[in-house]
Amino acid sequence: MNFKEALRLYQEADLFELGKLAHREKERHHGKKYYYTINRHINYTNICAINCRFCGYHKKPGEEGGYVLEISQIIETLKNTPGLREVHIVGGLNPDLPYEYYVELIAEIRRNFPGLHIRAFTCVEIEWLSRISGKDVRQVLIELKEAGLNSIPGGGAEVFSERIRKELYPAKISFKKWLEIATTAHELGIPTNATLLFGHIETDEEIIEHLFILRETQAQTGGFYCFIPLAFIPEGNELSHLPGPSAHKILKTIAISRLILDNFPHIKAYWVFLGVKLAQVALLWGADHFHGTVFEEKISESMKKTQVMRLPPQEIEKLIKEVGGEPVLI
Ligand code: SF4
Repeated sequence: MNFKEALRLYQEADLFELGKLAHREKERHHGKKYYYTINRHINYTNICAINCRFCGYHKKPGEEGGYVLEISQIIETLKNTPGLREVHIVGGLNPDLPYEYYVELIAEIRRNFPGLHIRAFTCVEIEWLSRISGKDVRQVLIELKEAGLNSIPGGGAEVFSERIRKELYPAKISFKKWLEIATTAHELGIPTNATLLFGHIETDEEIIEHLFILRETQAQTGGFYCFIPLAFIPEGNELSHLPGPSAHKILKTIAISRLILDNFPHIKAYWVFLGVKLAQVALLWGADHFHGTVFEEKISESMKKTQVMRLPPQEIEKLIKEVGGEPVLI
């Protein structure tokens, strides 16, 4: 499928037709299998040196409500999570945290949990670590990998568009830099995820462009594991006047992602942002990965002002079985 065909499909295809095509593609990759894990999110700090307009999570340095989690506190939290298989760690760009905090955090988790999958620090945080340490990105990644890092989350990709970056997150690294860091991680044997934040001011063309850039990068490195379409939350941030994406738009975007990203192993129905019910429907629109149990997640909580519900594994399995799938715990 080329760019024009993909755009036409995204804009003109009937929602159910598109869903059928994407679901067929999902079954070609995974049959009836749907994946999830028992994971916990750790948002180690909400203090951030930059200000992305869509973000309702961060606090400026010195602002009331800013926090940093002690490493010992994080270890305790993880110890209190039964059956844990994966920890997902992301946070703000906190000028008060030294480089050593990050390496020690990974090393301490690895020391306490030898078999745990540690997915930590987006490409944006990795670049920040390079800046505060004076080491190049490759060296930072090598040191984190040696400390016990397994993989990198997909956040910070937003939309691969300079127009949108200037408008919404001018202080964030460019998408070229984001891709360069992801590619370097792949070269070092560190798989990464990739996201798209959609449903704000982007155009359909920019969404399709984003997906094609990811597909081309994957063709070169093969290092992406999962693609996560993130539906913009228009609450608790500077863009609250926007309506946010409709369910129609969300399902179409997940479906077109499965069709364009035919070289990505997984497409995620990220229930934390989509809501559990729509995420379940997305399992029939091309998604094959239901993320995990989560336990708590402060980024969407800070915007929606409600606590993210923890989904027990049995509940996830029930949701998957209801759509005719076979749950696979990874
Ligand atoms: S999205 Fe990330 S980098 Fe941007 S302001 Fe929020 S915490 Fe900081």
